[in-house]
Amino acid sequence: MQAQRGMYIGGAWRPAEGQDTIAVVNPADEQVIGYVPAGTAADVDAAVRAARDAFPGWAATPQAERAALIGALRDGLAARKDEMAQTVTAELGAPPALAQTVHAGLPVLVAGSYAELAATYAFEEKLGNSTVYFEPVGVVGAITPWNYPLHQIVAKVAPALAAGCTVVLKPAEDTPLTAQLFAQVVHEAGLPAGVFNLVTGLGPVAGQALAEHPGVDLVSFTGSTAVGRQIGAVAGAAIKRVALELGGKSANVILPGADLAKAVNVGVANVMSNSGQTCSAWTRMLVHRDSNDEAVSLAVDAVAKYAPGERVGPLVNAKQQARVRGYIEKGVEEGARIVAGGPESPLGKGYYVSPTVFADVTPDMTIAQEEIFGPVLSILRYEDEADALRIANGTVYGLAGAVWAADQETATAFARGMDAGQVDINGGRFNPLAPFGGYKQSGVGRELGPHGLAEYLHTKSLQH
Ligand code: NAP
Ligand code: MG
Repeated sequence: MQAQRGMYIGGAWRPAEGQDTIAVVNPADEQVIGYVPAGTAADVDAAVRAARDAFPGWAATPQAERAALIGALRDGLAARKDEMAQTVTAELGAPPALAQTVHAGLPVLVAGSYAELAATYAFEEKLGNSTVYFEPVGVVGAITPWNYPLHQIVAKVAPALAAGCTVVLKPAEDTPLTAQLFAQVVHEAGLPAGVFNLVTGLGPVAGQALAEHPGVDLVSFTGSTAVGRQIGAVAGAAIKRVALELGGKSANVILPGADLAKAVNVGVANVMSNSGQTCSAWTRMLVHRDSNDEAVSLAVDAVAKYAPGERVGPLVNAKQQARVRGYIEKGVEEGARIVAGGPESPLGKGYYVSPTVFADVTPDMTIAQEEIFGPVLSILRYEDEADALRIANGTVYGLAGAVWAADQETATAFARGMDAGQVDINGGRFNPLAPFGGYKQSGVGRELGPHGLAEYLHTKSLQH
């Protein structure tokens, strides 16, 4: 994929207002692979205007037509799957197999689900003598992170379009090429000009201008809690709708009687996948004290299969690498025991971090509380179920989790007590229609499926 030198605004690639560019770096070999324009407030303003102009027409487009165009977008993503996977590998460092199945594959499913929902969603409901209409909120400002660059874009753009909203996207500065390729697919799918617009740029410049723009009706943000807090404040001051998908410190709770080997293996894979750069990763493994030694030894065996440069890619940039290594050092300082990995770089080149497992982690330690966003697992011991629940709920986050038990009922009962938006029971499969989002400081709102679509709708009632 050749980097575009412009912004995708109003259905065409246009030169940016300013001259500044952002270098895109391959984190596996630290080489610059392209440059994209660094957008300014002027670019954001042009994009928001294009989205505003396109809004009435798109909102009035019949459901079936919107559905067909989202279907064409889905088909375009499927047709460009290899190129998309290569682009994600080049700018994020994702191993090719992961890039194919998850980074390029999952968005095809999600886009497909919204092509279907756009056609079938009930935008009208009868309630006594009222008719309730669900109407598109307007122009959406979407701000996305680099960890699942295409998925995060599709999880916002597809439901927004299905709802009848128009969109301006500001993708992460580390992964703009995936966003440019997505814009190309949108263009080829034949979406009307201005329905989708792309402004590449830096968060505090282009991102902030988008969140603050009075022509934006809803801001949907995924990223750090620190930036999410700022965006929530800006949106609150302007009485704008806001959706925030933030960090996590999710618990993988292994109850007595569970299949320990399976729970540990799936748990380790969950953390190591995407080099640990997953907001919903189960980074805390909670094990009964009687099973602790066995769980630790199973985890050590499991993590040995994750060789850096093969099954585990690098972190996205040098800053994230330094941040994660700092957390590993902090874990050692605070008295946790490293049983695999460590703070040293495993390879001479690239932003790699060794897959690391800590045992003897206690709930008050930094590595048990803060989101590390790297291939680092903390194993904590609990005394009984009540203790496990207290530990599981004992962080500021509440995004996801897992529970393993001898039977579904026990695991389900435990999961009902967890402060978390999404919990997998005994290895329950990923469901692209299930609402995804956080309790507590993990966010506001839900993405995916019909619940994700509802975020982009206003409710109007007419009484007859
Ligand atoms: P981030 O700064 O929150 O980035 C997310 C998005 O927000 C990017 O597009 C970013 O642009 C933009 N942004 C940054 N500052 C902004 C501002 N003032 N106004 C509007 N938009 C702004 O996250 P990060 O710095 O890349 O990563 C730091 C940490 O965040 C990670 O270590 C991890 O803990 C967490 N994180 C969580 C998720 C998640 O899925 N929940 C994803 C990524 C990161 P730039 O790309 O130019 O910064
Ligand atoms: Mg940032």
